[in-house]
Amino acid sequence: NRSIVLQQRPHGAPDADTFRLAESPVPVPQEGQVLLRTLMLSLDPYMRGRISDAKSYAEPVAIGAVMVGGTVSRVEASRHPGFEAGQLVLGYSGWQDYALSDGTGLNKLGDDVGLASRALGVLGMPGFTAYMGLLDIGQPQAGDTVVVAAASGAVGSLVGQIARLKGARAVGIAGGADKCRYVVDELGFDACIDHRAPDFPQQLAAACPAGIDVYFENVGGAVFDAVLPLLNAKARVPVCGLIADYNATALPPGPDRLGLLARTILTKRIKMQGFIIFDDYGPRYGEFLAQMSEWLKDGKIKFREDVVDGLEHAPQAFVGLLQGKNFGKLVVRVAPN
Ligand code: NDP
Repeated sequence: NRSIVLQQRPHGAPDADTFRLAESPVPVPQEGQVLLRTLMLSLDPYMRGRISDAKSYAEPVAIGAVMVGGTVSRVEASRHPGFEAGQLVLGYSGWQDYALSDGTGLNKLGDDVGLASRALGVLGMPGFTAYMGLLDIGQPQAGDTVVVAAASGAVGSLVGQIARLKGARAVGIAGGADKCRYVVDELGFDACIDHRAPDFPQQLAAACPAGIDVYFENVGGAVFDAVLPLLNAKARVPVCGLIADYNATALPPGPDRLGLLARTILTKRIKMQGFIIFDDYGPRYGEFLAQMSEWLKDGKIKFREDVVDGLEHAPQAFVGLLQGKNFGKLVVRVAPN
């Protein structure tokens, strides 16, 4: 049983020394347990928080412990009355080949293994995040301009598409020409701006001639600096993630913009609200799942997965996620189907 464990906490960006591969015997299920074989592992930005011991909304992974993570697994052996060998389940086995479970938190998936990875992306945690953050906090109205960064990624790609389904104008922000082309040509956003362009703030302003009514915050940093002056009165800002700062070891260089932010919130009466998806919206997962499944069936939502082969490549892929190297929802194929 191979697993990836946390070797040391990174100072700044994680690197090759952050994780290490460990081997142990395949565990044996006891009465009431199932043995799960990991097929797909989800890699997500929140994992940067788990390898840090800074105080957060969740406990950090201990040094030497297996990295946590959402997984699609096959039940390899069952001594649990609710599960049978061969079933596909969504769970939280972490970065390893095999795991034991007493069934808590496991969700059975359909039989089609080709569709199973959707449970980690468009129909799973990232999709739910886009849906609730945009609709409950962002409340886009027809004709509004909705802006989202990391627009080709798991969450952002859905935010813009849902905004358009609600009659809003969707402006994406992404890293590089390929991602921007995809966001406009494939996902149907109205525009997409490359945040690495030297004149990014000017380009963003030009793409939002009527200002910004909803800014779905995925990244923070320089992107937020460019967004702030464009926010309209009564704009809504769901604060979902701040990935540009996840590897930061110090506050950003000045000038201090905190006063500017507070003044903008006050004078423009902006609503800015953070959320942690399952903590805040867990009971509404069913509503999301029904709606998103219908949109998918009707061809109204597109999504893209970036599949990396082999558990041993998970660390490198995760390091890349924090640098924008992924293109779509990042998943690791741990075992062939
Ligand atoms: P993505 O699939 O979008 O991948 C991350 C992307 O972030 C990269 O591809 C890159 O896109 C972008 N990025 C990385 N570094 C920077 C940077 N310095 N400046 C600007 N962009 C950067 O990830 P997810 O869709 O899974 O997550 C998006 C955000 O949502 C994250 O902040 C995550 O933490 C947050 N989140 C929050 C949840 C909650 O409950 N609050 C739940 C799920 C996600 P590009 O190359 O286009 O810049």
